Amino acid sequence: MAEVQKADLWIDGKPVPAQSGATFPVYDPGRGEVIGTAARGGPEDVDRAVESARKAFRSPAWRGLSPSDRGRLLGSLARKIEAAKDRIAWLLSLENGKPLRHAHDEVYTVIRNFEYYAGWVDKIHGRIIPVPPGVFDYLLYEPLGVVGHIIPWNYPLDIFARGVAPSLAVGNTVVVKPAEETPLSSVEIACLAAEVGFPPGVINVVTGLGPEAGAALAGHPGIQGLAFCGSVETGKQVLETAARNITPVVSLELGGKSPCLVFPDADIEKAARSAAEGICYNTGQSCGALSRLLVPEDLFGGVVEQVKTVMAGIRLGHGHDDPDMGPLVSKEQLHRVLDYIQTGSREGAQLVHGGRHPETRPLSEGYFVEPTLFTGVHPGMRIVEEEIFGPVLGIQTFRTEEEAVELANASSYGLSAEIWTRDLSRAHRVAAQLDVSHVTVNGGGGFGVEAPFGGVKQSGFGREGGIESILQYSRVKNVWINL
Ligand code: NAD
Repeated sequence: MAEVQKADLWIDGKPVPAQSGATFPVYDPGRGEVIGTAARGGPEDVDRAVESARKAFRSPAWRGLSPSDRGRLLGSLARKIEAAKDRIAWLLSLENGKPLRHAHDEVYTVIRNFEYYAGWVDKIHGRIIPVPPGVFDYLLYEPLGVVGHIIPWNYPLDIFARGVAPSLAVGNTVVVKPAEETPLSSVEIACLAAEVGFPPGVINVVTGLGPEAGAALAGHPGIQGLAFCGSVETGKQVLETAARNITPVVSLELGGKSPCLVFPDADIEKAARSAAEGICYNTGQSCGALSRLLVPEDLFGGVVEQVKTVMAGIRLGHGHDDPDMGPLVSKEQLHRVLDYIQTGSREGAQLVHGGRHPETRPLSEGYFVEPTLFTGVHPGMRIVEEEIFGPVLGIQTFRTEEEAVELANASSYGLSAEIWTRDLSRAHRVAAQLDVSHVTVNGGGGFGVEAPFGGVKQSGFGREGGIESILQYSRVKNVWINL
């Protein structure tokens, strides 16, 4: 068993227990055992954190900083995280289950977010508006105030950083509520921020349960902005709760059921490999996971064989052993995914690869599920319509480009999509017709911090990344001066 880990709340620049004294267990999903505890923050702790963030927002130590000094502080945090990257990646892999090298990739994204937004701080220019002579009119981008960030467990640090870094760049102060599955690594980042000189109260972290700490944060009258990433159901609740105080929900990133369209002129082998490896990345627990593979009818048999071969070669293991694929994040998630696999078979889809929880030790002790492939899937089946959030891929066929686009758009979600083709005109034509916010062509996997990402339809709204984040975490003030 790993050394016992413990996370307190991080409020006003220091670790504190929950006022109630309560804690909750943190698990290692790779072994199915408790590895530590985190403070179970309640509404009274959220009050303390928001009050600390409110004071920090007004304080000369934060508000009085020049933009260049604020930028340098963000840059120092990037360097500090880089120096601590081994410990942070180890912790992230332990509590989430992801392979160590993927945890390192995520920590690198965290570093990039703080670096990238450090560079923006002194470039947030206002505008001069052309108005009649005798009047001078200008526009300013100002911080919102205290911003709440509610974070899921699938990319806990990436999603922390891509929200918090631009929030701070604009001059906001933040209260972060990490997911109950992955509280440890977030508190670690807040602690590093204090070490590089972020004033107390600028970054607060309240660990705890969603319906307690999360709901208290979403409904807190002292916050002026809220960013949420997680499930559609919780997203709806968060919107309703925030509406009571007219709190602007700046970004709501929910799930996805993203399509991968492979056209006959594509590099089919590369596309099949990418689809199989892609659905297994992060054990399928990615909002942008390409879980619907759409292939031309006459290439179907070959693609199925290629995907099966790649899936058969995927090595499962504990995150710290750096396998190809780690466990699902929790026992609950394991049952959810296995239920979906059973549902798929019951609905008449053919399970052609995987689908089981390994029965021999040590994998049987963790929350593992085999890479899974379904054929014979059709619109209307739950495994085609609902987000599974596991390594489960369904293959559908099409005859024409129009039919491919129609199948791709036949989803209540709209997050990302991938196109495989060697025909540049087709790439642009299809990209323009897809009802999503993010399109990749011929692979490319992840996306840089420089580019915006977010949802349409049930996948939510708002954009994280690039200048769009700077804009969404700020508010516009117009000043009209009669000269
Ligand atoms: P969730 O939406 O319940 O949790 C996300 C975050 O919201 C967590 O921090 C949680 O504590 C908090 N939360 C929960 N209830 C809350 C409430 N009433 N008010 C305020 N905050 C609350 O997600 P989950 O249960 O952890 O995962 C379930 C499903 O959500 C997944 O299987 C997947 O389909 C989806 N999901 C999507 C993403 C994504 O990146 N879009 C991430 C995680 C989960």
